[in-house]
Amino acid sequence: MPRLDQLLARNLGRSRREVTRLLRRGAVSRPGGETLRAGRTPIELAELPVELLVSGVPVRLREHAHLIQHKPVGVVTSRNDPLHPTALDLLEGAPMHALLRAVGRLDLDAAGLLLWTTDTPMIHALTHPKRRVPRTYHVALARGWTPPPRGVDGSIELELADRSRPRIVELEPLAESARHPALEPPEGTGALATITLLDGAYHEVKRIFAALDSHVLRLARVAHAGLWLPEDLAAGAWRELDSLPNAAA
Ligand code: URA
Repeated sequence: MPRLDQLLARNLGRSRREVTRLLRRGAVSRPGGETLRAGRTPIELAELPVELLVSGVPVRLREHAHLIQHKPVGVVTSRNDPLHPTALDLLEGAPMHALLRAVGRLDLDAAGLLLWTTDTPMIHALTHPKRRVPRTYHVALARGWTPPPRGVDGSIELELADRSRPRIVELEPLAESARHPALEPPEGTGALATITLLDGAYHEVKRIFAALDSHVLRLARVAHAGLWLPEDLAAGAWRELDSLPNAAA
């Protein structure tokens, strides 16, 4: 069972020593007025989230924070980058900011759904190729693609330049009327596609369309594990989620 001081440190992004000082000063209280001074107080997970006041400011103690972000083109997914702003920079003010980790990656020139969480085992569950978690992309292409080879059961049997075989569960033309607003087709777009994959390998969508004699101009991830990027979530914006989507979706 987590202790009050551990939860305060995680949620406030402060050291345990700083939290101990806050508690000793009587700066932490329940909204009803009860002052909490004992850092060792156990907090039942079932009790969370717990609302407290820290120096008079409302604070919500959670076990974990989960966010959905609409990553814009031009920001990197890595935590630090000497040249570009990071997707994490856009999460300023998010709960448990210092502990958030991205669930997978999107390229600098890609947009769309990016999940963030403090629950690191869930990152593996949602991204490891063995877990076969579906990810759907809307793609703007320079031209149409050569239809991929199909097995007797209709499954796509494509081999990429590096001999890998991506698990593609859907690859279809995308009607303009069905295009997610996160995909902004640049000038020169000759075709739109939607593709759903179960792997998530490096530059996979770009490599797949290169193997089909086309060229990706822009792509947007529109769904991950069955969770669809809300169309009213503007580029760069984020929202807190109560839980992550089910990795078995
Ligand atoms: N495939 C790519 O090529 N790029 C991405 O960002 C995601 C999937």
